[in-house]
Amino acid sequence: DKRIARSKARGLAVWIDEEVEYRQALQTDFHRALDAGEIVPYYQPLIALDDDRLIGFEVLARWDHPTRGIIAPADFIPLAEEVGRIGELFDKLLVRACHDARAWPSDLRLSVNISPTQFAEPQMAARILDILARENFAPARLELEITENALVDEVSAARLILTTLRNVGVSVALDDFGTGYSSLRHLSDLPVDRLKIDRDFVERARLNDEGWRIVRAIMQLATTFDLATTAEGIEAPEILATLRELGCDIGQGYLFGRPISAAETGIWLRERAEP
Ligand code: C2E
Ligand code: CA
Ligand code: CA
Ligand code: CA
Repeated sequence: DKRIARSKARGLAVWIDEEVEYRQALQTDFHRALDAGEIVPYYQPLIALDDDRLIGFEVLARWDHPTRGIIAPADFIPLAEEVGRIGELFDKLLVRACHDARAWPSDLRLSVNISPTQFAEPQMAARILDILARENFAPARLELEITENALVDEVSAARLILTTLRNVGVSVALDDFGTGYSSLRHLSDLPVDRLKIDRDFVERARLNDEGWRIVRAIMQLATTFDLATTAEGIEAPEILATLRELGCDIGQGYLFGRPISAAETGIWLRERAEP
């Protein structure tokens, strides 16, 4: 038993070493990659649940690494925040997404994730509006998805920035709604248009009736506060059917489409347009 425990501990130690090495390698490589344009937008379709119309795409960052392949955002977004380059990363993704959007039908919208740490930058609203103007992308076609978890420190700054953007037509979604600590407070403190129901809740609804309770409660909250709703992580047709019945506005998930590269959106849109 001791021998097994020792070898397990050794295995764990090796795994931790490799993990630490991987993190350090990414960290040194990140700056070069950001400058070289290796961090690119992927696009996941957002579908209106009442008539299956394509509303737009959520922009999801991918690191297209020359040797490691595609790296998921969980591995580099926290890094970008730590080294203070998340704002730059956001700008680059937005510019690129506006550019890619020129190949799409002109009414399609973009939803872009914004890190709470970006609210520390007072010029943020001006920078976003500047990019939209330069790229000739109507503000009403942009939605910002903000995660509430870490907003706490920056609420007043966030409110100011979001209000400025909203005044010109940008909309705001509370991402991963219900997973943070002060969701309800943010509902009244921040200018918000939409709640995004976290994938965890949608997944739980798949298990049993009990699992639907939170989804239903969020839907009711949205009605009370006069907000639109998007459900993420829709993988099963029966989940989709119930979300429709509940009156959820927009759906997102592998059932409709996984996140794809800009090049792939062309193919995806053509296939979708075929009768
Ligand atoms: P999120 O904003 O909640 O994005 C949804 C995540 O769920 C995405 O993971 C997406 O690929 C995944 N997803 C969507 N539908 C399904 C489904 O049906 N099944 C399953 N299993 N997964 C689904 P991804 O792309 O790995 O992104 C993870 C998180 O990283 C995002 O969660 C977001 O918080 C963050 N992130 C991604 N791009 C950016 C970015 O440009 N800026 C910032 N600040 N954060 C980003
Ligand atoms: Ca999001
Ligand atoms: Ca989300
Ligand atoms: Ca999520």
